[in-house]
Amino acid sequence: MSDDFEIDINLVRQLVDGKIDDDNAERLLKLPRKDIGRFLQYNQVLQERVAWNDRILIRLSDKLYVVGKPGGKRETQCECGYSFGDYRQNWKLKSKIRTRKTLEEMGQVYSPSPAIPEPGWQEVREFFCPECGTQHGVEVVAPGYPIVFEMLPDLDKFYRDYLGQPLPDESPDWYEDHTAKVTASWT
Ligand SMILES: [Zn+2]
Repeated sequence: MSDDFEIDINLVRQLVDGKIDDDNAERLLKLPRKDIGRFLQYNQVLQERVAWNDRILIRLSDKLYVVGKPGGKRETQCECGYSFGDYRQNWKLKSKIRTRKTLEEMGQVYSPSPAIPEPGWQEVREFFCPECGTQHGVEVVAPGYPIVFEMLPDLDKFYRDYLGQPLPDESPDWYEDHTAKVTASWT
């Protein structure tokens, strides 16, 4: 099959909404490969479902996106519109964080009890949007371990080399981890 086929965007809408029927889901699964426009179709559907106009560049999780902002910025943004700032800085550093350290605190979110991490050796960190309270992430790490930066996408390379649609503001310094700038500002 050639690479230039494209599925009906209404199927993507149904996929995103969790309403696609079994036959169509199976049909998509059995395609020899995903059509090259699917990511852009998917982004278009996501864009239809948010209340703001900043361009979605990539979805990081259910309600968290990297978006293009006015003035040439790329920021991590919650579905509610709250911006966590430059996407090259770990968004978790600007979230509300709840840490569960004791057996009792961790037991509230683990079942059965043998699955509970061992207090003193591990802790559970939960990351929330300061504006709407959505939980965007959870990590289980040793106490004192640096906050994990889960994903720094190379957006320029992805859009240019994989989608064939280079972003208008390409620059080598987009693909750099700037998290240390945030922690440095705390001292
Ligand atoms: Zn929010």
